[in-house]
Amino acid sequence: MKKLIKNCSVLLRRGPTDYTVITDARVGIDGDSICCVEWPEGKLDGGCQAESCSAPGSCCGGSAYDQVIDAGGALVMPGLVNAHGHAAMTLLRCVGGGLPLQRWLEEAIFPVEAVLKPEDVAAGTEMAMLEMLSTGTTCFSEMYDFPDADFEVIRRSGMRANVSRVGLCFDPELDPKDWPRTRECVEFVDTHRDPADRVRAEFCFHSEYLTTERFVRAIQPEIAARPGVTLNIHLSETAKEHEECIGRHGLTPAEYFEKLGVLGPNCLLAHCVWVEDSDLEIIARTGASIIHNPSSNMKLGSGFAPVAQALDMGINVALGTDGTASNDDLDMFEEMRLAALIHKGEENDPTLLSAGQLLDMATVNGAKAMGRRDTGAIAPGMKADLILLDLSGPHMQGPWLAEGGALPPEALVYCAKGSDVLMTMVGGDVLYDRGRFLTIDRDRVYADFAASLRGIAERMKER
Ligand SMILES: [Zn+2]
Repeated sequence: MKKLIKNCSVLLRRGPTDYTVITDARVGIDGDSICCVEWPEGKLDGGCQAESCSAPGSCCGGSAYDQVIDAGGALVMPGLVNAHGHAAMTLLRCVGGGLPLQRWLEEAIFPVEAVLKPEDVAAGTEMAMLEMLSTGTTCFSEMYDFPDADFEVIRRSGMRANVSRVGLCFDPELDPKDWPRTRECVEFVDTHRDPADRVRAEFCFHSEYLTTERFVRAIQPEIAARPGVTLNIHLSETAKEHEECIGRHGLTPAEYFEKLGVLGPNCLLAHCVWVEDSDLEIIARTGASIIHNPSSNMKLGSGFAPVAQALDMGINVALGTDGTASNDDLDMFEEMRLAALIHKGEENDPTLLSAGQLLDMATVNGAKAMGRRDTGAIAPGMKADLILLDLSGPHMQGPWLAEGGALPPEALVYCAKGSDVLMTMVGGDVLYDRGRFLTIDRDRVYADFAASLRGIAERMKER
């Protein structure tokens, strides 16, 4: 199946952090991948890369398309990658607002999570996917209870995601062999396959404080034996977590996980707010990625991650929303904008974090962290994971119109909003188009979500 998007501008990535917008462009899609990007003055990579192309070198000039999408002047840009989150927490949106993290978890979040059923998690995740698709996210990281149900609804949606059985173990005396979760974490990775390879199973240690050293040591060889599989960890999110880890082990969380041999390029370290300079050196040396969650860190009063410093050290830094109980939405445009603003403000330095760095963090860096280097940019050979952004809103008009209309990349960081997204495509399949969801029954999800919330409220009363 070949598709052509015409009458569009395109956000091109000329190199790391180097973006430009071309106008009057066309994007060809062959199967699940982009095969060509052309505009009047040029074409990427010498023209069409599709083997099946009927007119090599000028695919977009040909007419052999099964479907032509007229973008009406909208912008084609890569789908956003939400590299840290807990999708089903839509069920807990705004719960426990105003509490500090540990009390928020123990008093507000854990009591609700204790009564959740698999069907609740499925409904919560489907609601999250409606929000993510309609605000331009094509790929996300998911860490939550009942991952079997999660994996299945995500697979049916057509979105890309990495999903884990959350690694948890509370009792230092417990032999991991006697703890079912040890086996379940590994089995989840080995038994969950998506024939389309959009949803992948990964490993997870929730954090240093919700696992034990014996548990991590028991799973470490299994991770080492599966080098392509990613590993998801919350790391140094709060000062309390960081200090208590030092108290327990004499090591920071980064030092601790490095000692246990689990840090590597496959590793996603969420938050890293309280990491020390020596921790950043460990992260840089091991090639792990930092996932920055600016909304969540601010809402929970956790602090400001040293993102500019990490980027300077060559660390791969990506962006995430975290769950909707600590954000409380899933709009990745907002995360880009917040990440851009808070570090300049905190360090009194407007030169920190360029628009190009922010766009990288929201796209290719997230894709790299999630082990998906074939998505995150608009170029021949990349997966056709892309969005159409409406440029007609008043907040998208500016002085560039006097110079021919090419949007500066800054406008995507500082002006654009998730609500500007017109269409979202994953692997060449349109999943969302101007308010319509093509793979998820929106009305059914709203009904399931409401039914789940009623059930949760009843079970909470019975406790
Ligand atoms: Zn999290």
